[in-house]
Amino acid sequence: MPTCVNFPWSAKALSPVNRIAERSVVIIVLKPNCTDEQLNHIFEKLEEMGFRHELSRGVKRSVIGVIGEEDALRNAPLKAIPGVEDVHSVLKPYKLASWEFQDYPSVFDLGHGVKIGGGHLILIAGPCAIEGEDILMEIAKGVKAAGANVLRGGAFKPRTSPYSFQGLGEEGLKILRAVGDEMQMPVVTEVMDPRQVELVNQYTDLFQVGARNMQNFNLLNEVGQMNKPVLLKRGMSATVQDLLMSAEYILSNGNKQVILCERGVRSFDSSTRNLLDLAMVPNVKGLSHLPVVVDPSHATGRPDLIPPMAYASVPAGADGIHIEVHSCPEKAASDGAQALLPEQFAEVVKKIREIAPLFDKTIDAPGD
Ligand code: PEP
Ligand code: MN
Repeated sequence: MPTCVNFPWSAKALSPVNRIAERSVVIIVLKPNCTDEQLNHIFEKLEEMGFRHELSRGVKRSVIGVIGEEDALRNAPLKAIPGVEDVHSVLKPYKLASWEFQDYPSVFDLGHGVKIGGGHLILIAGPCAIEGEDILMEIAKGVKAAGANVLRGGAFKPRTSPYSFQGLGEEGLKILRAVGDEMQMPVVTEVMDPRQVELVNQYTDLFQVGARNMQNFNLLNEVGQMNKPVLLKRGMSATVQDLLMSAEYILSNGNKQVILCERGVRSFDSSTRNLLDLAMVPNVKGLSHLPVVVDPSHATGRPDLIPPMAYASVPAGADGIHIEVHSCPEKAASDGAQALLPEQFAEVVKKIREIAPLFDKTIDAPGD
């Protein structure tokens, strides 16, 4: 007969904020051969550290429920006490990103009447890099006419080779802002360095933190102090928990507007640029109230695979789809091979518009 563990406290009775600020629970699993002497020593240590504890003896194994201030519990070296086999935290390490903190889906206002989350689906489109005003304007007109509601374009490009085009920098930011204003679309652009945050903040509506910088904690702290949404892309070898922990950096700095982005992870199969983890979307939605965007462009790197993966993102639960579009992919300064033409993008949007209502999603028209 398994023994039912009945702890004397009620975590539910505490408000989410109190749970975060004050108390948390960990379960200590004792070694099967833990002696009474070791057990008393464990109790002594827990009391010394100011934790409450409750022993529950099982037939084969015993466990101790420990309650205390969360940070103190997290940092206590409980696993080092003789007789302790393992320590399990009951609360998720990414508190602010989790449903434990907020029980409704986050909705963010991106400007120009465009919202994301809670039934609002965004369509982000534009070139990989900003290459000039005329070309960006041409692409922006194309994607807006097709139904995109957020314009993208990189001014600072994280390139694998230092000899590749690195972006137009501030000149690119100015172009993006001007085109966004003219087209009445919110704009998103990547920030690569904490020292660029102030500058990028002057021009953008949303910050993008790219896959290569998902764990640039100084950058996360910096954008965490801004009052604008952050599109946080999943690192190439980041687990879902890694991604949520990076979101937690931004959230814990006070910026509550984090949008997660699945853009594929590295895999053994070179037939696609990356491996799109579409299951990550419902997986993350079960763990977090934050909106999730899918980027089939960087995930597949193949124009033939981008449309089907974009469609599949909607039933998977995505709150946004991010697609690179260029009016002349063969002349693109970066990622031309994966860019859709504006007319191909328009086809994709047409189908997404048909699918979206089936999954209770609406797409806001920008400029409203
Ligand atoms: C990009 O959006 O152009 C980009 C570089 O994306 P990622 O960080 O996902 O590679
Ligand atoms: Mn790109």
